[in-house]
Amino acid sequence: MSERPSTPPRATRSAGKLPPNPLTPEQIRRMEEARLKAKAAAQAAQSAKPTAPPPVAGTKRAFSSINSSNTPANSRNAATASPAKHDQNGFTQPPSNDLIQPAKNFGRSEYIEYDFSKMMDTKGGFLSTTDDPHNRAMRSGRGREEEKPENMTLAEWERERIRRKLRENRLGPYEPGISILDAVDGKYEEDDALLAAAEADGVEFKGKYGDGKRDVKGKCRECNSLEIDHKWQDVFFISVCGACKDKLPDKYSLLTKTEAREDYLLTDPELKDPDLLPHLERPNPHKTNWNNMQLFLRLQVEHYAFSAAKWGSPEALDVEYEKRQKIAKERKEKKFRTKLNDLKKRTRVEAYKRQRLGDGGGEFGDRIRGFGDRHEHEWGRSVVDGETGMTRKRCEECGMEVEELEF
Ligand SMILES: [Zn+2]
Ligand SMILES: [Zn+2]
Repeated sequence: MSERPSTPPRATRSAGKLPPNPLTPEQIRRMEEARLKAKAAAQAAQSAKPTAPPPVAGTKRAFSSINSSNTPANSRNAATASPAKHDQNGFTQPPSNDLIQPAKNFGRSEYIEYDFSKMMDTKGGFLSTTDDPHNRAMRSGRGREEEKPENMTLAEWERERIRRKLRENRLGPYEPGISILDAVDGKYEEDDALLAAAEADGVEFKGKYGDGKRDVKGKCRECNSLEIDHKWQDVFFISVCGACKDKLPDKYSLLTKTEAREDYLLTDPELKDPDLLPHLERPNPHKTNWNNMQLFLRLQVEHYAFSAAKWGSPEALDVEYEKRQKIAKERKEKKFRTKLNDLKKRTRVEAYKRQRLGDGGGEFGDRIRGFGDRHEHEWGRSVVDGETGMTRKRCEECGMEVEELEF
């Protein structure tokens, strides 16, 4: 064995799982020396410490008895107090403190980007829905799909939205083509047969909605035009053209949910049933983050409301309406009467109290004077003063005089 320490072979850093380099004899010798030295130092420190007396109840323990570490009292490096870790070669690693981490460097990103299309003016400043996903004030009535996807520019998104709107309303490139085949009256054959049968029975043809119009899909039920509103066809299952819609508001105007409920006395479950009464949804014109407006077709609402399933006839609806108005009025009157009676009762109690405080007795109409009552002047006849032209009147009870100018 030579005295000169030899250079250990190079560590191969391939997988990191290779067996550690074998220790050189020199390393082993130094480790052993260090171990023995440390052991001796620890034993010396242990023997130098006064042996702690057995703890006596009620007395303060010595600090050394609770401080188990053998850190020298003059140590200024707290990191050495933690048990030193040894790597596979037995060397002590530099102390690390996992709890204390350097602050993240905010300066690394140059600026924070805000996407204003996703932000909402909450009147307390612009807030992003990603910052505050549970804030109801920022939830718009429009659904999630109305948000601009990340990878789109604003111009692209605008075009996409127009495209979606056209598709939804089946307009522009999404309007179904008109085929010559649709114009063939073959579709009427079934209806014609029914019509003939009905006329033979002496019954007037009523049609689906009782207005004598024939409903053929794809054809305006009023003027037989093929240029129908396809949105309405999809939602209301009714074929009507734009011109006829404008011409006949009695049939084809749209009613809000409130109108349908209050004017036709329909209930919420009835209005919620899309099979019974389909409705068109529109964003609320008053506030975009309110619920969508629900619009019902007047023809369908009236057909249902006047049908035997509901009120039977417009007259019956009027009767019901009157009845409800009467009930509401009676309820209001009853409430007023209860209030009035309550007031009367309270007044009677008050009068009784006053009577007990007063001189006793007293006829109806007499003023009842009680303790702590405010004095009300009893003005006598007013006298005109000849010099000034003022009228003067005097309180009968307290003698106070006032002058007034009468006109
Ligand atoms: Zn028409
Ligand atoms: Zn007076």
